[in-house]
Amino acid sequence: MTRLVVLAGPTAVGKGTLVRALRERNPDIWLSVSATTRSPRPGEVDGEHYHFVSDDEFSRMIERGDLLEWATVHGTHRYGTPRAAVEENLAAGVPSLLEIDLQGARQVRAAMPEALYVFVEPPSMDELVRRLVGRGTEDDLERERRLRTAEVEMAASKEFDVIIINDDLDTAVSQLEALVLKPGKPRGNRG
Ligand code: 5GP
Repeated sequence: MTRLVVLAGPTAVGKGTLVRALRERNPDIWLSVSATTRSPRPGEVDGEHYHFVSDDEFSRMIERGDLLEWATVHGTHRYGTPRAAVEENLAAGVPSLLEIDLQGARQVRAAMPEALYVFVEPPSMDELVRRLVGRGTEDDLERERRLRTAEVEMAASKEFDVIIINDDLDTAVSQLEALVLKPGKPRGNRG
């Protein structure tokens, strides 16, 4: 059976970097492109990093049932996973990955309990703060908001099947790749 892996973890833990490195190593793994109401950051391409949509369009996607899950993230913008692309890729036997927030992961789990749920943790909370500040893409208020979300999210790691500690990137990529490509759920959690 084709595997769907749902990856979540606190902000700035390096999920984006991890997923990019995984796709470079293994382009056969499909990554869902989310819809979002936030504006593109410099360098972000519509349809590649996100589907950037208006608030109205996002509401229409919800009404039509186009989204497998959606959530308001960091109390600001809405993000959601287009359902059709996930179903098509799984039906075609393509190993698939969702990189979404915790609320979204919980919704997908309710709909697809057979997927594998993976939580990415920082080596320490201090390191998470360093990564968040170092990224420099958010202003002070936004950074504070995201840190608060991160603290709450860290407590949810026990809901997941597997925890990957994102310390050494290569090691973390190898762990994630094995999980996406390996059939069946590992037994017990933290496998
Ligand atoms: P950013 O704005 O930094 O690209 O993403 C902010 C957060 O939105 C990240 O934690 C990311 O996991 C989450 N996110 C991205 N796409 C989705 C989605 O489709 N659904 C949900 N629930 N969260 C998403």
